[in-house]
Amino acid sequence: MKLAMFGASGRMGQHILTMASEADDIEIVGAVDIDTAVQGKDIGELIGKGTLGVTVTADLGPVLGKADVLIDFTRPEASLISSEFCGKSGTALVVGTTGLSDSQQEQLKKNVAGIPCVYAPNMSMGVNLLFKLVKDAAAILGEDYDIEITEIHHRFKKDAPSGTAKRIAEIIADTLGTPLSEYGVYGREGITGERGPKEIGVHAIRTGDVVGEHTVTFGTLGERFELTHKAHSRDTFASGVLPAARFAIKAVPGLYDMQDVLGLK
Ligand code: NAD
Repeated sequence: MKLAMFGASGRMGQHILTMASEADDIEIVGAVDIDTAVQGKDIGELIGKGTLGVTVTADLGPVLGKADVLIDFTRPEASLISSEFCGKSGTALVVGTTGLSDSQQEQLKKNVAGIPCVYAPNMSMGVNLLFKLVKDAAAILGEDYDIEITEIHHRFKKDAPSGTAKRIAEIIADTLGTPLSEYGVYGREGITGERGPKEIGVHAIRTGDVVGEHTVTFGTLGERFELTHKAHSRDTFASGVLPAARFAIKAVPGLYDMQDVLGLK
């Protein structure tokens, strides 16, 4: 598989290039970043692996001519550019960029209509398995169990609750038919009264350097059942990317997520 990286000098870009350089079935054929400080440098220099013979460049066009798949971990506006380029060149695309607005997501979908594209704001294998298990547990346990989501992240995180906690809440709401606009409860304080049976509680803890933890608690009279995922390092996100790329190059055109990649649908 011939792979090109968009956002090559970013935190995720460097992790992914490192993993790709260690995979037997992958040849890195291009690395693109808007950051002029890294353009012209060998990617081996970026990831502490000497010289790998691929230079960071500014333009996507020439790189896409050589690649089977482009991996994009950049910024929302950049992902609209990469999806447009890939849509035109027919190159498979894996997008991990988060924070796209609804209209940007719509534009991305239009751009990739004719190519295979995996778009997944959380590429951790474990978190995607958690999504599936939460759905199953909610369907089986149903409204007899009180469902509460707790997430813990490092002190520097700027948004709450996490995108992953929001996705878990959506999955539960969709499974039980209890819309979040009506039944989502974000933190509790004061004389709140008894817990409503259909409430979906979401709670955010911010402390230290926690990479990310999510626990979904299903509680009823007599027992409590919990599903927990703990990310130990950002490698967990990067580890889903290469399977997503291998999936994308074999897939028929369409928009996919990590549930498709992992066969969890
Ligand atoms: P980062 O800021 O370290 O890296 C982003 C890189 O993209 C930078 O090198 C930047 O120069 C480059 N870039 C920005 N605009 C560009 C453009 N127009 N053309 C080319 N390059 C451009 O960020 P990061 O921590 O690597 O995260 C990148 C994105 O991935 C974020 O949206 C983040 O939320 C997301 N992310 C997703 C997952 C997941 O599992 N899907 C996990 C972690 C991070």
